[in-house]
Formats: sequence, C-alpha cells, structure tokens
Amino acid sequence: MTDIMTKKVLKDRVCAVCGRKFDVDLKEGKVIPEKYFFSDTLGTSLTGSKTEYWECENCSGYIAERVKEWMIKYWGERCLSFNDECACCKAWTCYDYLFEEFNAAEKSHTLDDI
Ligand SMILES: [Zn+2]
Ligand SMILES: [Zn+2]
Repeated sequence: MTDIMTKKVLKDRVCAVCGRKFDVDLKEGKVIPEKYFFSDTLGTSLTGSKTEYWECENCSGYIAERVKEWMIKYWGERCLSFNDECACCKAWTCYDYLFEEFNAAEKSHTLDDI
C-alpha cells in the first residue's frame, strides 16, 4: 500500500522539443528524475496559462552531458587545437558526430528550412 505513496508515474508527458510522449517515473518523495528537463514556470510563461514544460532525456541534453562527463574522465578535456594524429581529438570528433544533432541544433534547423 505504501507503494502508491512513494512511487508515482506521470503518464503521457509530451516533450516540447521533439513531441515524443513519455511516462515519468517519479523518484521517492515525488522527485522528478534529473534526466528530464521540467519547468512549470517556463510552460506557464510560454502559453500564458498554467502548463507544464517537459523535455525528454534526449532533448534535455542529459545523455550528451553524461557521455561528455565520461569523455572528460576517460580522455580528458578537448585539446586547444585539433590534431589528426591525436587519440583524444579523434575521440572528441566521434562525440561530436554522435551528438551532432544536439550540439548543432540551430544548424539543423536551418537545414530543415531549405
Ligand atoms: Zn524530446
Ligand atoms: Zn588532441
């Protein structure tokens, strides 16, 4: 019975960026998991009525951020200048490639417009 008190799922939240629907598993104490971006003040100011603003774990940059932390731990920070021969630079090139969409969100918007 206590499960209902401690565990709650928010059904059918919609990502404001990609429009994907998802269910949010609240953590104990009804805390929203950090992988989602949530703001009720932003939603309210955007629409003028009390609205929840959500971003899924992809759009919130959560996954890119976690991988970035791992990259820095494993490879170190990016080199100041790019070098073809450098393993660290190559690794960061892969990262950029994987998260291109996230890093270059603005660029891809202009491509869509063409
Ligand atoms: Zn999304
Ligand atoms: Zn390098």
